[in-house]
Amino acid sequence: IRKPIFAANWKMNKGPSETEDFADGFLSKIQHKTFPADIVIAPPFVSLAKAAEKFGNVSAVALAAQNCSEHNSGAYTGEVSAMMLKEFYLHYVILGHSERRAIYGETDETINAKMLKAREVNLRPIFCIGETLEEREGGKLEEVLRRQVSIGMKDLTERDLLDTVIAYEPVWAIGTGVTASAQQAQEAHAFVRSLVAEQFGAESAAKIRIQYGGSVKPGNAAELMACPDIDGALIGGAALEPQSFLDIIVNGS
Ligand code: 13P
Repeated sequence: IRKPIFAANWKMNKGPSETEDFADGFLSKIQHKTFPADIVIAPPFVSLAKAAEKFGNVSAVALAAQNCSEHNSGAYTGEVSAMMLKEFYLHYVILGHSERRAIYGETDETINAKMLKAREVNLRPIFCIGETLEEREGGKLEEVLRRQVSIGMKDLTERDLLDTVIAYEPVWAIGTGVTASAQQAQEAHAFVRSLVAEQFGAESAAKIRIQYGGSVKPGNAAELMACPDIDGALIGGAALEPQSFLDIIVNGS
C-alpha cells in the first residue's frame, strides 16, 4: 500500500520572512495532529535555512529543494549542488519541473544527470513529467511520457526507485485553473506506472508513488486522490496559504 505524499512547490515565492510566517501559521494548525500522508514543503533556496530552522524537528513535515545542479562543484555561476543542499535537513529535491524544462531549457538528459547526483547524496527526487496541450492534442501523450520516463530515470537502481516520487503534471493544467479530470489523470498515471513496470519490473512499479500536479485545490483534491494510481499531489498556487495546503492534505488523504 502506498502512503500518499502532498508536496508544496512554492516556486519563486516566499523569501525567509514569508517562509517564517507560513511556518508559524502551518505549525499552529497541525499541532497535535497526525496525518496518514507525507507532507513536503519546497521553498526557494534562500529560504531553506529558515525552513530548516522552523521544520527541522517537526517529524510530520519534510523539506525539499526545487532544483539542483548536475555537477558537484566548480565554475557554475548561480548553481547549487545536491551535496550543498544536504546541509539543510532536506529529504527531497524536485527535478524536471515543466518550468525548468520550458523556461530554462532542461533536457531529459540533464534531468537524468541531476537525478543521479541527487541519489549520490541520498536525496529523494520528486521527478516531474507531463505533456503540453499541443502534445496531448497531437496524440503524442504516450510518446512524450515514455521518453521522459525512459531517459529521465535511466540508470536508477531499485533502491533509487523506492526513494523516487514521480509527479505527473500536465503542463496545460499548471497554474491555469484547468485541472485534468480524474479520469484523464488516472489514465495517465496508470500509463506511467506501466512504463515503470517495463523499465524496472512490476514490483517496483506497484511501490512507486505517483503524484498528480496541476491546479490542485481543496475542492478537487478528494476526487483526484480517490483514483487508484494517484498517490498524492504536487501543489503550486494553492499551497502558498497554510489553510489551503492543509485542506488539500486533509481532503485528499
Ligand atoms: P499549480 O498548483 O499552481 O497549478 O502548480 C502546479 C505545479 O506546477 C506544482 O509543481
